[in-house]
Amino acid sequence: MQNTFLRGKTALITGSTSGIGLGIARALAQQGAHIVLNGFGDANEIKALQTELTKEYGVTCVHHSADMSKPVEIAAMMEFAAQQFGSVDILVNNAGIQHTETIENFPVEQWDAIIAINLSSTFHTTRLALPAMQAKNWGRIINIASVHGLVGSVQKSAYVAAKHGIVGLTKVTGLEMAHTGVTCNAICPGWVLTPLVQKQVDARAARDGLSNEEAKKDLVSEKQPSGEFVTPEQLGALVVFLSSDAASQVRGAAWNMDGGWTAQ
Ligand code: NAD
Repeated sequence: MQNTFLRGKTALITGSTSGIGLGIARALAQQGAHIVLNGFGDANEIKALQTELTKEYGVTCVHHSADMSKPVEIAAMMEFAAQQFGSVDILVNNAGIQHTETIENFPVEQWDAIIAINLSSTFHTTRLALPAMQAKNWGRIINIASVHGLVGSVQKSAYVAAKHGIVGLTKVTGLEMAHTGVTCNAICPGWVLTPLVQKQVDARAARDGLSNEEAKKDLVSEKQPSGEFVTPEQLGALVVFLSSDAASQVRGAAWNMDGGWTAQ
């Protein structure tokens, strides 16, 4: 086991039973951090994930199933993490959902759910994590925004609004913590092939009569000049860097990893 500079620290990653969050959990566990997983899924599969991380990296891995749209459940999760490990040192706000529709047809309940899960949950976890981080004078808050925190796309009103909100909240958190050892930054990924994006690939395949491979290529090339997906492993590596001492003066940043999407 090498490079374990986070040994003894605790990382809580929301929405980490799948996709990007799981990639980030693996990367932080690899550096020795104890892990609090959160997210939905099959209980046996989640148990298997916990066992895998514990066996592979020698860390303690627990899971809390709080629904990120519910402040009371978020508070219970933060309390659970504190009871298990004392406090949360690295908070990764990653849970997110998507719904695509024009504004005039956008279902109101989908708007409310996206704002609650993709934006307000980060306010709640952050406000509850900060006191212990301030007491230790060390902490890392890393918010998984999106290129849609920087630019817009049609039919994604709630998602783009929430992600722009996350970038704003990141700046304020970074500024309020500027004289402490607590940093807060956002990561803005382009397309990453996860279950969230596979749904959009499937919709495109059905709409345009394309195969899965053709629809993936079509989707990624439309916005991302590299023509390639970003991977959860690459995002995990960026989270590890932002958790390191080398990143102690990266504060309030919105750091894109998007195959050139927002350079255009
Ligand atoms: P995913 O669907 O693979 O995973 C989402 C995770 O969030 C799962 O673990 C799921 O169980 C959890 N989750 C969903 N609703 C929840 C709720 N109410 N409470 C608790 N957990 C909940 O999605 P992903 O693509 O890995 O997305 C993760 C984050 O990355 C999201 O915030 C998303 O907006 C962002 N993002 C994704 C992409 C992409 O291309 N996939 C690009 C930019 C940003």
